[in-house]
Amino acid sequence: MKNLGSYRLNNHWVAILLLLGVSCKTERRSTPNFTNGIGLTIIDPHSYANFKEIQTKHLSLELDINFKNKTIYGVARHTVINRKARKAIFDIHGPLIRKVTTGPKNQEKEVDFIIGKMDKDSILGQPLIVSISPETKYINIYYQTTQQCAAIEWINTKSKENPWMYTQGQAILARSWIPIQDAPSNRFTYDATVKVQPGLLALMSASNPKTSNKSGKYYFKMDKPIPSYLIALTAGNIVYHPYSDQCGIYAHPEIIDKAKEEFSALPKMIASIEQIFGPYAWGNYDVLVQHPSFPFGGMENPKLTFVSPSIVAGDKSLVSVIAHELAHSWSGNLVTNETWNDFWLNEGFTVYLEHRIMEALYGKAQSLLLSEIEMSELVEEMKTIKSSKHPEDAALCLNLKNRNPDDGMTSIAYVKGAYFLKTLEHKVGQKKMDAFLKDYFKAFQYTSISTKNFVKYLNEKLLLPNYVDFNLNEWIYQYDLPSNCFTEPSALLQQVNYLANATNSGIDVFAPKQKFKWVEKKKRRRIIRKKVWYTEQLNPKIYNTQQWIIYLRQLNPTLTKRALDRIERYNHFSEANSELQFEWFMLNLKCNNWSIAPKIEKFLSATGRRKFVEPLFTLVLRDSNRLGWAKRVFDATKNNYHSVTQQAIHALFQKYH
Ligand SMILES: [Zn+2]
Repeated sequence: MKNLGSYRLNNHWVAILLLLGVSCKTERRSTPNFTNGIGLTIIDPHSYANFKEIQTKHLSLELDINFKNKTIYGVARHTVINRKARKAIFDIHGPLIRKVTTGPKNQEKEVDFIIGKMDKDSILGQPLIVSISPETKYINIYYQTTQQCAAIEWINTKSKENPWMYTQGQAILARSWIPIQDAPSNRFTYDATVKVQPGLLALMSASNPKTSNKSGKYYFKMDKPIPSYLIALTAGNIVYHPYSDQCGIYAHPEIIDKAKEEFSALPKMIASIEQIFGPYAWGNYDVLVQHPSFPFGGMENPKLTFVSPSIVAGDKSLVSVIAHELAHSWSGNLVTNETWNDFWLNEGFTVYLEHRIMEALYGKAQSLLLSEIEMSELVEEMKTIKSSKHPEDAALCLNLKNRNPDDGMTSIAYVKGAYFLKTLEHKVGQKKMDAFLKDYFKAFQYTSISTKNFVKYLNEKLLLPNYVDFNLNEWIYQYDLPSNCFTEPSALLQQVNYLANATNSGIDVFAPKQKFKWVEKKKRRRIIRKKVWYTEQLNPKIYNTQQWIIYLRQLNPTLTKRALDRIERYNHFSEANSELQFEWFMLNLKCNNWSIAPKIEKFLSATGRRKFVEPLFTLVLRDSNRLGWAKRVFDATKNNYHSVTQQAIHALFQKYH
């Protein structure tokens, strides 16, 4: 997932009661005997599932997407490995369970089930406990989704031509649309039959159709075992553009031309990462441009990355998100964090790989510039985390028990994690580092790994054989950034640093300047020197998006409206790509230039990306005079936000007022 930003979610979640008294009865009949004295064995801190005793090996989904009712009617058929269990526990958070059966399809027998209590803060959802026999091999759960199913976003449901829906599973939202053993260490294959209104195209994190059909029925297959959070579904008016036999792009017809141009480097990206870290394991790799409400920059659903249209910049300046999601095909999807406490093994590795791809395609200076931007976010976020009530979140290895796993989605996992690997690479040399990582992806492919086991493997395969002494404990378990953190300045920084300093000193660096030069001329056999005046003006196009981001971040929050207007006149940041618009609006808010408000409102109604929406609302809400504005704008825009973004903004309103 690409979710970097310099502002952190608030830890508004408090302790959860994990040990439940099972009480809520379902729509079905009375509680059977097997529930007496039930004790839940927690294997993963964010799942109720007893997948050590009984584990889904293959999931077969039958899904009927009904836009009119904003409901998916589903059957989840679990083929299980049963180690003599008498109960199977699944995670659910929102779906209505109609009935549960055991046995192969069409030879099914209805069985008893109960649903446990919701945890106190409604983070984990509820355990669905099914009565089975030690011989049970098939468990079939008949269900339908409800408005409480937080993974699903429904858009334009009344429109005949343009309804759209999608799901977002990470971290623990897959359980909100499929009754499932929802833990990242739980892997299974899946297939699905999906029915949607004729003319629309449905897609999943699986082998996908290229065109819509008149029946509206599609069949999907994922034959490699994936963790539960990577099951994804979307449906809408979607068309496809192939770049090659292996990869291509899906998007709404309105944006497909722009998108196919924007991401044309995709085949080269795949080739460059394969060259370093081994073959791409998943067959096809496609990218889908999601609806603007999509809460993240990208999500690495296997075979079909979802990206926010906010990265379709028109000048290919934000394609590092694609490099990031592609890199997850190795780190995250092939080798997965065992629990959400090990999230840095997914994201730190992926940012490291992303930078390697960017370096191969766009050069070292550009890749270092991306690192620089992320490092500035890490420094800011570390300050916030260390002064929060959870300073321990500044360590790479987390302890998120009794908390929302989304709390771990910070720059620590992404950037500190990436710098851990960059520093390690600097210490052992790139050749050994690459060989180590290639072997690591192979050794642990299609499995999950904990931080402890990663450290063991790293010691055995890289550090000890090469007699390398590395401060692993400090990097992984302590809160500060170790002093041996290896950073390199980008050659592209110097000039923008100069511009920022000049702007902060009150100099109008963009204004046309009258300059002169001496020109020598021949006149009657004599050479004479003549003073020639000319106008010189900085051409903003000589700097790229990332350089401008660094420039804007360095400007003082004391700039006057006049100074801001001057900058805007030459650069038009409020009409630039999404990243620059965001940086520009943040700067204006910090400088108390409230005349920018209508442009911010327009921006907030055009994107649902949490990375943009949450910090902007945070700055607005810090000023109590803006509460009315914030409420009005949120009321008008919230239906365009996925629940992930909506919840973050609700929490802000609670915090500030
Ligand atoms: Zn990611």
